[in-house]
Amino acid sequence: MMDIGFIGLGNMGGPMAKNLVQAGHKVKGFDLGAGALEIATANGIETVSAAAEVAKGSQAVVTMLPAGEHVRSVYLGAEGLIAQADPDTLFIDSSTIDVTSCREVHEAAASAGHAMLDAPVSGGVAGADGGTLTFMVGGPDAAFARGKPLFEIMGRNIVHAGAAGNGQVAKVCNNMILGITMLGISEAFTLGETLGLAPEKLQEISSTSSGSCWAMLNHNPIPGLVENSAANRDYKPGFAASMMQKDLRLSQAAAHQAGVPTPLGAEASALYTMFVKSGRGGLDYSAIIKMLQEA
Ligand code: NAD
Repeated sequence: MMDIGFIGLGNMGGPMAKNLVQAGHKVKGFDLGAGALEIATANGIETVSAAAEVAKGSQAVVTMLPAGEHVRSVYLGAEGLIAQADPDTLFIDSSTIDVTSCREVHEAAASAGHAMLDAPVSGGVAGADGGTLTFMVGGPDAAFARGKPLFEIMGRNIVHAGAAGNGQVAKVCNNMILGITMLGISEAFTLGETLGLAPEKLQEISSTSSGSCWAMLNHNPIPGLVENSAANRDYKPGFAASMMQKDLRLSQAAAHQAGVPTPLGAEASALYTMFVKSGRGGLDYSAIIKMLQEA
């Protein structure tokens, strides 16, 4: 049994922390929201009133926060986790954040003698609840070995992607592929139907041809073509368009920083931003097909 701290007990962090408790660990948690704290208490988490209190006495601290600015504010500074934690604490940041903030916090943690992993996830709230998340992990081998037993409680697929920040790199690159392919599928099915080809026929042909891809087979944006797609339930997410927009923006920030041209990623980011601005960020990301159909 370990003493674990957990900061950010929202839609994802709440159930992840609950799974750590159910596996027999002692979990101390903090969140800015009263509602999140109430649910956490009901799930057997000891709640405290500041991030610094979570740090004290914890062998590992997991954070699951909205964005880079929140992660920096929780880790850095005199009252931050890095300054307040016991020596050699293991930090696991599972938030999806920009690569630059991630590597900056890694560096600060290492300079203070702590071990750190960036470990963003895929699998959504259902994966967090069921303990079936995929973890993409960046950081030193020794830190990964310490974190692995915790990832195995909260997730099913755990991949060590390499050095500090590589978990975030994997996450934004993967989701850039997903956003671009969803737009490609949406364009092709809209064009095909407009030219008189039934979506069922295009699916039958493309799913066994060179155009086939994961999003087409699993998240097809046309209702009724694949089992369990969000399109079959009026595009209730799933993976919300606003989340896809966030991840595409992060991949664009990383691309600019690295000086790598990603014209399709840029276009996907612009189109998802337009979709979210139309008030539909709460729909599944596959609902982007509606915008193309309207055009
Ligand atoms: P959420 O908004 O439900 O939870 C975030 C929590 O962090 C909130 O409860 C908020 O009060 C808390 N918080 C913010 N600043 C804080 C601070 N300074 N100190 C303490 N608590 C603070 O968001 P979520 O859906 O749980 O997502 C968390 C992260 O996981 C994000 O980075 C998101 O991109 C990523 N993610 C989400 C999903 C998903 O399906 N929801 C899937 C994969 C990855």
